[in-house]
Amino acid sequence: MNSELAIGSDELPGPVVRRSDVVVVGGGPAGVSAAVAAARTGASVTLLERYAALGGLASGGMVLVLDDMCNGDEISVDGIVAEYIDRMHSMGLAVYPPPEDRISSPEMWNRWSRWGAFDFHSHQSPKPVCYAVAFDPDAWKRASNDLVREAGVNLRLHSWFSRPVVDDGRLRGVVCETKAGPQAIMGDVVIDTTGDIDVASRAGADFSHDRYLVTLVFRLGGIDTDAAERFEQAEPAQARAINRKVKRMLGGAWELWWLKTPVPGVVWCNCPHLTGYDGADPESLTAAEFDARARISAVLDYIRDNLPGFERAYLLDVAEQIGVRQTRLLRGEYVVTKDDITQRRHFADSVARGRDYYTPYRALLPRDVDQLLVAGRHYSATPDAQRISREIPPCMAMGQAAGIAAGIAVDKGITVREVDAADIQRLMRDQGADPGDVPAANATIDEEVSA
Ligand SMILES: Cc1cc2nc3c(=O)[nH]c(=O)nc-3n(C[C@H](O)[C@H](O)[C@H](O)COP(=O)(O)OP(=O)(O)OC[C@H]3O[C@@H](n4cnc5c(N)ncnc54)[C@H](O)[C@@H]3O)c2cc1C
Repeated sequence: MNSELAIGSDELPGPVVRRSDVVVVGGGPAGVSAAVAAARTGASVTLLERYAALGGLASGGMVLVLDDMCNGDEISVDGIVAEYIDRMHSMGLAVYPPPEDRISSPEMWNRWSRWGAFDFHSHQSPKPVCYAVAFDPDAWKRASNDLVREAGVNLRLHSWFSRPVVDDGRLRGVVCETKAGPQAIMGDVVIDTTGDIDVASRAGADFSHDRYLVTLVFRLGGIDTDAAERFEQAEPAQARAINRKVKRMLGGAWELWWLKTPVPGVVWCNCPHLTGYDGADPESLTAAEFDARARISAVLDYIRDNLPGFERAYLLDVAEQIGVRQTRLLRGEYVVTKDDITQRRHFADSVARGRDYYTPYRALLPRDVDQLLVAGRHYSATPDAQRISREIPPCMAMGQAAGIAAGIAVDKGITVREVDAADIQRLMRDQGADPGDVPAANATIDEEVSA
């Protein structure tokens, strides 16, 4: 992908179907957050999504635990993600441990580990139970629809971004491929939340391109989870041996390859871990789909015969969307490093938080293209930094910050580069989010990287 794919506003291949202050491309966790946040500042917003539903990896990709959102006891990612949790909880489709259970103890581990609600970065044994939320993919879609509708966002599904409209290095809009032919959507600010910087890379922004594990997530029904848990607590050695065999068949998985969901008898399997595939290459992705399905079928046969609680297991569904963790990453005004994340480096222009790390506004700003913001898993970070800072909640916080920044630029008639991070921080707080403007006690303050 390169800037040769950009076109000028006098070369549009189809009609202009919409003009908005802000155009958000990609309706995943970051994109919906950006669109809703921008609309709440009073801007007119159009949100484009290639598929039939909102949610990205959180719905179509069936990534079903919100984590990386607490710093010890403190909930560090707030705002639109919390609104999702409340909505899904009131549907009975979100589960999380109450505060009194968030400790390290064998009892709490037994109660919560199979919900994925534990601190996977901890070296303690057992790992401490922490705030993390297991949810249902369709609940995510419904909550997304409600948030977008209530905020007055103009949503266009079935619209596959293809080309940026760029005049003199400034984004003017985008072109989407649709069943009705190419359509142009014009805007003062464009926010790229495609996960693979489809817009930014084609508009001529600098980026890196790496690859990481690819996973076709699946769910199994007909599981007696109580029997399965009783077995692994009563027969840990035997359970470990079966686990090892399953993981070999899968080609790799996290330690707990199946987790409970809010739907009784249904578990989700955040596996297989496939290596060597490029999530931005259709040939490679096609091969990954075949590889994953063959592994899933083999594992299903094996566990039916060998794993107590799984005797009646059936394949409920396989994610519509293969799980791509990392492809192209922006090289923006600031590139977040692994050190920044692990040292919990605080930035004066922090506009979003993750577990215990901070995202500066500069990491959402491309260097080479104007009126474009980037938020979500493709933000400006080194590949090793992105691997440990790309979970759903921090991506949503970045999206919310980008939407607010776009809204401020439109309101003040300035460019997104000119937006003052202090204004974003203030509006993030007004919208119930934590921009990370006040460093936590365990943060590192480094003046050199402060804005
Ligand atoms: C297998 C797997 C397991 C994971 N496990 C966890 C976990 O347990 N907990 C956790 O919090 N995070 C987890 N993550 C990480 C998390 O899911 C992602 O990093 C997060 O969803 C990124 O959000 P996003 O909005 O940036 O991108 P995405 O979720 O990828 O959303 C991008 C959106 O843009 C749309 N789009 C893309 N290209 C175009 C285009 N050209 N035109 C129009 N629309 C387009 C997509 O359809 C999608 O809706 C996991 C990821 C994977 C892959």
